[in-house]
Order: sequence, then C-alpha cells, then structure tokens
Amino acid sequence: MITRENPARFAEIVGSVAETSPNEVDAIVWSAEAAYRRWSVTPIDERLALLTAGAEAIEDALGELSVLLSRETGKVLGECRGEIGFAVRYLRWVVTHATAAYADQTLDDELGLLIQQRKPYGVVAAITPWNAPVILSMLKIAPALAAGNAVVVKPSPLAPLTLDRIARLIGGPLRIVHGGAEAGAALVGHDLVRKVAFTGGVAGGRAVAALAGDRLTPSVLELGGNDPAVLLDDAPFDDAAMDRLVMATFASSGQVCTAAKRLYVPVARLGDFVDAYRAAADRVLVTGDPLADGVTMGPVISAAAQEAGAALRRGRFHDLGIFDADEKTGYFVRPALVVSPSTRDPLVTAEQFAPVAPVLGYTSESAVLASVNAGELGLGASVWSADEQRAVAFARRVEAGFCFVNTHNRTGMSLRAPFGGVKHSGWGREYAHEGLTEYAQTCVIHAPAGYRPAATSPAGNPM
Ligand code: NAD
Repeated sequence: MITRENPARFAEIVGSVAETSPNEVDAIVWSAEAAYRRWSVTPIDERLALLTAGAEAIEDALGELSVLLSRETGKVLGECRGEIGFAVRYLRWVVTHATAAYADQTLDDELGLLIQQRKPYGVVAAITPWNAPVILSMLKIAPALAAGNAVVVKPSPLAPLTLDRIARLIGGPLRIVHGGAEAGAALVGHDLVRKVAFTGGVAGGRAVAALAGDRLTPSVLELGGNDPAVLLDDAPFDDAAMDRLVMATFASSGQVCTAAKRLYVPVARLGDFVDAYRAAADRVLVTGDPLADGVTMGPVISAAAQEAGAALRRGRFHDLGIFDADEKTGYFVRPALVVSPSTRDPLVTAEQFAPVAPVLGYTSESAVLASVNAGELGLGASVWSADEQRAVAFARRVEAGFCFVNTHNRTGMSLRAPFGGVKHSGWGREYAHEGLTEYAQTCVIHAPAGYRPAATSPAGNPM
C-alpha cells in the first residue's frame, strides 16, 4: 500500500493506493494491449469523444480534485486549480487539433499515389513525477489516446492520488499502475510496451532510457532544468518585474522544472537587485498552509526534500517574504536568497528543487553567457532588459529548449510552442504539434499510378 501524508501537516494521512507488483504490471500491460487492438481501429471521432467526456468529468470535479492535489503535494490551492484547469484545456486543445495532426498525407505523381499514414505505436508507458502530476501525465495521455494508442501511466508514489481519480474519470484504454522505480522498470521493460514517455529527473531518465534502449523502444524524455534568469545591465528592477521573478523562483516552493534557479545580475547592480528582490518577496511571498487564502508558497514534498532544502541555506543569505508555518509539523523550508555563492556550489551547478535561490554577479555579457551555457542541463531560461531587441539577441545564444524575455515560466504560453530541453534536459517534445506527432509513427503505402481511394479507414482516413 502507498500511503500519502499531507506535506503541510504530515500527521494527516490524505489517502492511499494499492502498490502494483511486477506481476500485476504484466497483467495490466496485457490488458492495455488487448484494449489497444480495439481502440486503434476505433474511428478518431469516437476516440476524441472519450477525451471530451474526460475533460467534462474532470472540470465538473475541479474543486474537489484541486483540494486533493493540494493536500497530497503541498502546492497552494490556486496552483492546483491552475494545473488541473490547464489539463482540461489541453485535453480540449488535443481534441481540436488531433484529426488534422494524424490525418494521412498524400502525394500523387507519375510514380503513383503515396499515402503517408500516422499510426499508433501500441501500448505507451507514461512515467511521471510528483511536482505537477496531472498536467505532466495529461501531456502524454491525451495525444497518445487520440492517436490510437493504449496508455499505462505510472505516477510518482509521492503524488498518486489525484491522478488515480483522473485516470478513472477518463477510462477507455487508459490504465494506471502505482509504485516507484521497480514498478516503473517493470513497465518500461515490458515487451509489449512500444513507446516510453518519461518526465522526471536526470538519474531516473538515464535508467529509463537505458532500459528502453536495451529493447530499442523509442522514448520521449523530459528531464530536469537549472534555468538561469539573466538581468542585462539595463534591466529595470520595477515592482511588476521583480514580483514576477520572485514567483518564477518560488512558486511550488521552487519545485518546478522551469523555475528560475540561478539569478545573474551585473556585479555593479547586485546590491540594488537584492534590495528590490527582497522588497518584492515582502509583497508576494507568503509561506504557510497551502489551502489558506493569501498563501503563495507551501511546504516541500517530503522529509528528505526538507532536509536537502534547509542544507542549501548557507553562506550569505537573506530570508524572504512572510513565513507563517511550522517546520516541525510540516515539511516547510524558509525561502532564501543566497548572495554570491561559489560558482562551484551545488546550489549553482545543480538543480536545487527547493525554495533557495542563488544570485551571482557578472562583469560582462560574454562572461554571463559562458556561465549560463555551462553545465549539462538546458531546459528553460529567461533574459530581462529594457531593450527587447537586445534581449532577443541574447536569448538566441542561450543553450536551452526555450527562453523567455522579461518574464520566466508562463505556462499559458506553452500551447503555442513545443516544450522540451536540450543537452541532458531531455529529448522529444511536448505541447503543440510536435507533442501530438510524438505519439504516432509514420508508415507509407506506395499505391500504383492511377489508384484512387474508395473508402475510409477505421481511423477516418482514406484507404
Ligand atoms: P524522478 O526522476 O525521481 O521520478 C520520476 C518518475 O520516474 C517517478 O514516477 C518515479 O517513480 C519514476 N522512476 C524513478 N526512477 C526510475 C527508474 N529507475 N525506473 C523507472 N521509473 C523510475 O523525478 P521526481 O523527483 O519525481 O521529479 C522531479 C524531477 O522531474 C526534477 O528533476 C524536475 O526538473 C523534473 N521535471 C521535469 C519536467 C520537464 O517537463 N522537463 C517537468 C517536471 C519535472
């Protein structure tokens, strides 16, 4: 049994789910395979109807699901509503765009009629982390089901409860297994799994990629980030910008893949920046009960995360915002800004996933670009300047999957563009057109010259 406590009050048990044994994983994959055989020949309109009904069912339960997500993850209620609401929006976005994305493409020339099909893979294994379990699972489930695959999702044992409810609301050829690395490995290593979609840390990603590689199973990996936020020498430190930057750093207690995790400021402006940043934290950062009104930051996910986060508060640092929580009854970490740590400090070189952020002074644009591009992670980044031309020119040279200008990590933007990192932040893309086509493989029929399609395939395409 996996039992989940409330990170804000760890004496309170939120719920539990049965842990799936490796034998049960095998049976569930076989059942998903049987479902896939039927689902892949179901017309696409019927497949999309399942997603529409799922979106409605989730929306109807939004209030209750948001409270459950907040209680199992410690994220503030508004963020949980935002995450689940965004998952509903994404489901509907997939319904709108899937038919065109998976339609046949044809080429008719003197060699004959070429029909390029988008076919499902079979059973897709979706392995997801705890920090945004609903949206990160939906980014895999929705396009994979729309394309005609069956899906077996394995959420993190640290946040299995809300997704378990949501999987049941969607139904169809979607299955769920519960457990940690062992259940994940049994799933990824299963012979009937034809595609793996993983979101998580670099170590887990490496293990999953190795297993998938051994079986030559194609995989999508969305991994960790150590996003820099670079304030160029003309960046205004106005209240609105500073408020955005503080929340880009501390939303979800810094446990966001694309949080601003390293702040770079011209050395001559470091003192002014620290003052402006602390003032912004006083305005917008309130640590406390994630279900309470006005609270903008809750606890971290676990006792281990609390210990690791507290250990990062060293050297010259400032406590930030209003702290109204008990570190002895909940996994709270006091948010802090560490000023000028060593560039070799793990707080700078690795992903902290905690509410402790470093600010580093730099002396020239070329020096800061080298610092930003150092290391193996390249998920997101941001650049801040009064001169947007200059900011975009800098952004072009940043080694990251995406770079924001004068903001950082605005989720609403992600439906417009593919999301994913470079270097060890992963491969594959989610969201946008690329996020749909990841779950369909291209197969080609070479029909003879003069052939004309006479019927429609079960998927709704011409035959
Ligand atoms: P994690 O890698 O520990 O776990 C992710 C999932 O993989 C969990 O379901 C876990 O049980 C499973 N898993 C772990 N090891 C495994 C193994 N050897 N075999 C099979 N399954 C295994 O990550 P986490 O702590 O849950 O999440 C935090 C990490 O996720 C951070 O690094 C964060 O940056 C990253 N993340 C990335 C994105 C993105 O889109 N790039 C989004 C959110 C989080």
